[in-house]
Amino acid sequence: MTYDFDLFVIGAGSGGVRAARFAAGYGARVAVAESRYLGGTCVNVGCVPKKLLVYGAHFAEDFEQAQGFGWSLGEAGFDWPTLIANKNREIERLNGVYRNLLVNSGVTLLEGHARLLDEHSVELDGQRYSAKHILIATGGWPFIPDFPGSEHAITSNEAFFLKQLPKRVLVVGGGYIAVEFASIFHGLGAETSLLYRRELFLRGFDGAVRQHLREELTKRGVDLQFNSDIERIDKQADGSLQATLQDGRVMHADCIFYATGRRPMLDNLGLENTSVELDDDGSIRVDEHYRTTSPSILAIGDVIGRVQLTPVALAEGMAVARQLFKPEEYRAVDYQTIPTAVFSLPNIGTVGLSEEQAKSAGHSVEVYESRFRPMKLTLTECQERTLMKLVVDADSDRVLGCHLVGPDAGEIIQGLAVALKAGATKQTFDDTIGVHPTAAEEFVTMRTPVAS
Ligand code: FAD
Ligand code: NDP
Repeated sequence: MTYDFDLFVIGAGSGGVRAARFAAGYGARVAVAESRYLGGTCVNVGCVPKKLLVYGAHFAEDFEQAQGFGWSLGEAGFDWPTLIANKNREIERLNGVYRNLLVNSGVTLLEGHARLLDEHSVELDGQRYSAKHILIATGGWPFIPDFPGSEHAITSNEAFFLKQLPKRVLVVGGGYIAVEFASIFHGLGAETSLLYRRELFLRGFDGAVRQHLREELTKRGVDLQFNSDIERIDKQADGSLQATLQDGRVMHADCIFYATGRRPMLDNLGLENTSVELDDDGSIRVDEHYRTTSPSILAIGDVIGRVQLTPVALAEGMAVARQLFKPEEYRAVDYQTIPTAVFSLPNIGTVGLSEEQAKSAGHSVEVYESRFRPMKLTLTECQERTLMKLVVDADSDRVLGCHLVGPDAGEIIQGLAVALKAGATKQTFDDTIGVHPTAAEEFVTMRTPVAS
């Protein structure tokens, strides 16, 4: 049987582009279909524009702190349309970079919505294509629960294109997107409340980290409302929104932003024409080699509902390309020590186990913690504090987890992730010479456990 392509990738996001490029590099005949935007969620409505808005929001603090160093500034003004227009220009540039990356690697780029016709065929714009292997890399889409007035809420998809910065924002949710956008809106000057349905946000992160971020956001003036959820939203005559909470309280806002998770993007994908099955949570079921229940169809990235992070989708894309076309170089993705950052203000960086996870996995743990005022702030009025924490296995001395809340946490945690991946012990940390004067050196100078 001859096919039009060796590999047909559906979705030119983080995972799809990586798989397509690598497969083409190994000599495979590859097509990639993209219905919306090259680069996918991360480039268009995710990591990249989000980080640009976080940078924008941070200037508010920079201007304030500059005064302690002798700078005097006039009254600072902020213009949302300028930030959004500049962000859009940069994203367009990146779309072009992705186009070139694909085309220059010899991948056939098909722009349009792809639909599976059977285990080896895809339809796009009325044209039928056959492929030996099909890779589903269609990502995810924001999920808003169904309740009266939910149509008045926006998600991250719309937030990146708002015409004006809302004056009052309610952010609903307690995950990455909720805390990041609460920081963005607050930093840029909106009166911001964050509503989360349980006791404390960022479930799954280390307890000390969650508590520390709660304190820091409160100090900055973000209104945190835990054990709170919206029952209904009513649009008022003046266009503003009224939220009635489940406990009967009423809150008013100009924008209600839902960050309550993401669902797999399977719309009109034609899965019913194949033997691909779904997991209970609606994501595509795959085995450890990303094979679906159809022998010729694989899936990676957010659509398989494992770890929804760009570098994970990239690693999975590379693993699939190698597995199919360069098996001698295949290496399984290591899901154990995935570093991650939450770009709230302040940032969180974390890798490995939280104290709670280490204990419930049966480790007897030693905990090292340091809390301090960053040196840069000593000449300013700012009372922000940094948290650094190490979770160590008391028996083997192995460092199980590193956690950090403070400036540049994402940058600092990357190096620590290498150390953890290499199996570093607390002794290795102690024997490592610090870089002075930095905040990061604290990770190699914590000597006395706070708990064991
Ligand atoms: P995607 O990047 O979503 O790509 C899927 C592509 O498939 C899309 O372009 C879509 O248009 C296309 N598609 C879907 N269906 C079809 C079809 N039938 N035919 C053709 N094309 C189709 N991760 C991080 O690591 N760091 C961050 O800082 C970070 N920030 C984020 C901020 C936000 C607001 C969001 C929403 C996500 C963020 N993420 C971040 C997560 C990251 O964006 C995703 O994990 C990553 O993009 C997943 O890649 P993917 O390839 O699985 O899917
Ligand atoms: P998350 O899954 O991280 O968080 C969803 C939040 O919404 C949780 O706090 C959850 O509460 C709450 N929630 C879920 N359903 C409801 C509901 N029906 N009513 C009220 N609250 C609800 O999703 P996000 O949307 O924040 O982000 C999606 C993913 O994208 C992240 O998990 C992450 O993998 C990725 N991402 C990564 C970023 C980064 O690397 N910096 C940045 C942004 C996104 P509960 O805790 O009770 O379940």
